[in-house]
Amino acid sequence: MIDELESFPFTSGQFVSAVATDANGKQQTRAYSIASAARENRFDLCVNRVEGGFFSNHLADLTELEPGGSVQVHGPHGHFILHEPVTDSILIATGTGIAPMRGYAQWLFPEDGPDRSNGKEIWLVYGTRHETEVYYQAEFEALAAKHPNFHYLATLSRAKESWTGLRGYVQDHVARIVEERAVRLGLPLVQPEVDPAIPKAELEFDIYAYICGLNNMVSGVREKLAGYGWHRKQVVFERYD
Ligand SMILES: Cc1cc2nc3c(=O)[nH]c(=O)nc-3n(C[C@H](O)[C@H](O)[C@H](O)COP(=O)(O)OP(=O)(O)OC[C@H]3O[C@@H](n4cnc5c(N)ncnc54)[C@H](O)[C@@H]3O)c2cc1C
Repeated sequence: MIDELESFPFTSGQFVSAVATDANGKQQTRAYSIASAARENRFDLCVNRVEGGFFSNHLADLTELEPGGSVQVHGPHGHFILHEPVTDSILIATGTGIAPMRGYAQWLFPEDGPDRSNGKEIWLVYGTRHETEVYYQAEFEALAAKHPNFHYLATLSRAKESWTGLRGYVQDHVARIVEERAVRLGLPLVQPEVDPAIPKAELEFDIYAYICGLNNMVSGVREKLAGYGWHRKQVVFERYD
């Protein structure tokens, strides 16, 4: 909650910059994606502790204080936002990269307002190592149960035997989505090359991918999509490292 403001408007997918002084008296700033859609003067963050890192641990320690600590932020910043009008979209995240995706989902399918998804197909492909890191699972499952055009795929790379959900890396599930969609719509599996005469600003596509997480995963998914002939402009991404 921002005490000084009555409202804090932003576009889902944007981040705030948090500022704090470390043990050596040095001012540190880190970016954190907003993990909710805009609502009055409140927003959510999804932060995990990075071993040996200052800021992630500073924030995590604040949440353990009673009645809660405070931190200075500025923003909103960033261009990791949904194209409008909304198209079919594949949202791909690992780890805390789920944060902006939760913001998108809350904006697309608000609890107390009209659906903004335009009836388009929205896939959320979320990858992590262990079951304990599947953040907001119940929330996304409830959303998928309520909205037939929202598809939630959580996949684990190091699942225990008891895990009954998907396994493996996000890239593989993204590939399956792209291929099944092409078959369903009668489209070629590899997209034809875009006419280079079309100015970049005028390019529009019927599907976009939004990727958020650590660089390795982002690069892996971008390469996979490039293999299907996806245009650079069709793939929007945010890297955390
Ligand atoms: C636009 C943007 C949005 C971001 N949003 C979030 C967010 O919503 N939630 C979040 O937890 N982090 C987010 N980050 C990462 C965040 O800014 C910090 O880098 C992270 O919290 C580590 O900071 P630190 O001071 O604890 O560690 P540092 O000492 O700064 O970093 C230690 C190492 O951790 C790596 N690292 C960075 N982020 C992660 C991560 N999430 N998991 C594992 N390793 C990581 C870095 O490569 C770095 O080498 C975002 C980064 C950017 C650029």
